[in-house]
Amino acid sequence: MPDSSTGRRHPTLLLCVTLLICLCTQPSARADWHRQQADIMGTRVAVELWHSDPVVAERCGRQVISEMERIDARMSTYKPSSELSRINANAASRDVELSAELQHLISRSIYFSEISHGAFDITYASVGYRYDYRNRQRPDNEWLAERLPAIDYRHVQLDAGKIHFNNAAVRIDLGGIAKGYAVDRAIGLLRQCGISRAMVSAGGDSRIIGDREGRPWVIGIRHPRDPQDIALRLPLSDIAISTSGDYERYFIDNGERIHHIINPKTGRSASASWSATVIGPDAMTTDALSTTIFILGAVEGLALVESLAEIDAIIIDNNGKVHYSSGFQDPAASE
Ligand code: ADP
Ligand code: MG
Repeated sequence: MPDSSTGRRHPTLLLCVTLLICLCTQPSARADWHRQQADIMGTRVAVELWHSDPVVAERCGRQVISEMERIDARMSTYKPSSELSRINANAASRDVELSAELQHLISRSIYFSEISHGAFDITYASVGYRYDYRNRQRPDNEWLAERLPAIDYRHVQLDAGKIHFNNAAVRIDLGGIAKGYAVDRAIGLLRQCGISRAMVSAGGDSRIIGDREGRPWVIGIRHPRDPQDIALRLPLSDIAISTSGDYERYFIDNGERIHHIINPKTGRSASASWSATVIGPDAMTTDALSTTIFILGAVEGLALVESLAEIDAIIIDNNGKVHYSSGFQDPAASE
């Protein structure tokens, strides 16, 4: 009996149609990109994440911003109340207790000093505080010569939760590593939120988890001498990337470019490179290494990179020539 058999099928068909409609209109099934940004640590912080629920996305983005603010409050040398300022004010005269977090960053900094033979050195700040790029101030030669011996990471003694400087003129600054650390912390928070596609950046330091809906992110490296131009584009996913350049904070004095990356050997702005980009598994490492190899220049910088696992780099030298580590295919080599 055709009628009764048709009649028997109807409920199933109806259920299928209803289910389909439910699936298609379910708001939580539609994921999207959500973006938040803020100015922290003297730079622009941006979080972009992929999530189906705007409320969760907003909450996780806000957690990232507050974590960056917490790190800035602890590590800024501009805030007299920060833990780092307290260390700088007292560690030359007595042992100062420090948090496990600062101990971790300072001991990692010392590691980068050791592997770079002192090119990366947080005691650069012993002279660094006399540079003021906005007001075009630099220390004079006499003062610099007198203070130069204070730049030496071996003056920093870390011991069981305490820090001591064994030179009265030592100051430290984590500006070459803290932004990368903050980006890593942000990525950790996003993972706890269950997010599997995101990018967090703080100035020149970024880290990506996942990809951009099946395709890589394309990260542009600025042309160091033309702010409107992109020198290189890198397709990347699941990685950290940092760029250090002599065009971020600088002024020109008598034809000399005075910028914020200091060669510890001279106490003056490093001049071997225009920019240095490092990719690797975490942003604290890429941040410290981009500053380091910028100072070392192409030959020594790339030799250091080749000695490290999972790290690659691109250096634009002080003639504008681009140098690649072996993990990148050098486009010029195949021409
Ligand atoms: P940014 O992302 O701020 O441009 P970079 O990663 O390029 O930072 O590093 C520059 C910062 O590192 C400077 O602003 C300063 O705080 C710090 N710095 C400068 N010279 C050195 C050095 N020789 N060793 C360690 N840190 C440095
Ligand atoms: Mg750096």
